[in-house]
Amino acid sequence: MNRTPRLARSLLLATATATAAVVALAPPAFAAAPMVKTQAPGYFRLMLGQFEVTALSDGTVDLPVDQLLKEPADTTRKAMAAHFLAVPTETSVNAFLVNTGTKLVLVDTGAGALFGPTLGRLVASLKAAGYEPGQVDDVLVTHMHPDHVGGLVAAGQVVFPNATLHLGQADVDALMKAAPPADGKPAEPGPRDMVAPYAAAKHLQPVVADGEIVPGIRAEAAHGHTPGHTVYVVESGGRKLLLVGDLIHVGAVQFAHPEVTISFDSDTKAAAAARAKVFHEAAKEGAWVGAAHLQFPGIGHLKANGAGWDWLPVNWTQNR
Ligand SMILES: [Zn+2]
Repeated sequence: MNRTPRLARSLLLATATATAAVVALAPPAFAAAPMVKTQAPGYFRLMLGQFEVTALSDGTVDLPVDQLLKEPADTTRKAMAAHFLAVPTETSVNAFLVNTGTKLVLVDTGAGALFGPTLGRLVASLKAAGYEPGQVDDVLVTHMHPDHVGGLVAAGQVVFPNATLHLGQADVDALMKAAPPADGKPAEPGPRDMVAPYAAAKHLQPVVADGEIVPGIRAEAAHGHTPGHTVYVVESGGRKLLLVGDLIHVGAVQFAHPEVTISFDSDTKAAAAARAKVFHEAAKEGAWVGAAHLQFPGIGHLKANGAGWDWLPVNWTQNR
């Protein structure tokens, strides 16, 4: 006696028929599809109260971190291996776009053409994220290094023609004092050439003291990495994001050992002190942190752990 219910019988029959059809119709798999090798568009969006924050990737660059950090190279190599990271280390260059609802504010601009072919993708990421450079009202630069100001100018033209540029006064002073090359030949374009057109157009407003730049975003001195290195604090709806620039470069080493500095720091003692102060503030308040060189999108929280911090990267979100 057949106990299989009629529905199950017809499903079995349908499955057998479909399988036969697939076997008959499927083409033989001679070759795999060509590899595509591109990454997802370089942006990540997060709501912060009423503000929309978009992390923008400028690309990545391989850094010989074992040669750059101020600790024995072997110690660095062991720490990187423990985090399954190669040396040289593929290092992100991130910028952040904040739409406050009344102002569109960009924090850092990537490297432009100043740091090799793997960087300079900021404008592509900005456009992929749904914005145009001409919409940016204010550019806040954390410091004057090429991987933060290089995106201000492209092919001799300002990239953000409608923006006011804000940069720590001490960095502006250091840039503008930089001596021309001794041999009289025109130097390779550098940070000074990125800032100068904004100064000439009277679009440069140096940051002279801590305080609000646009409603909801204020500057906080964090000198040491450069003389004018500045953190930008974004606040909306009771939530806070600290855009910390280059307070950290190598998370695999410097979260556990914040005393380890890097040769890019112009004043290593002050750089370590600024890192400790701002990270302590972020951990205590449970604020978001956005960093220029942590793995894209470079956004997460800090939790105190002994003499250092644990890094808790942002959860993926569709901003529903
Ligand atoms: Zn940097």
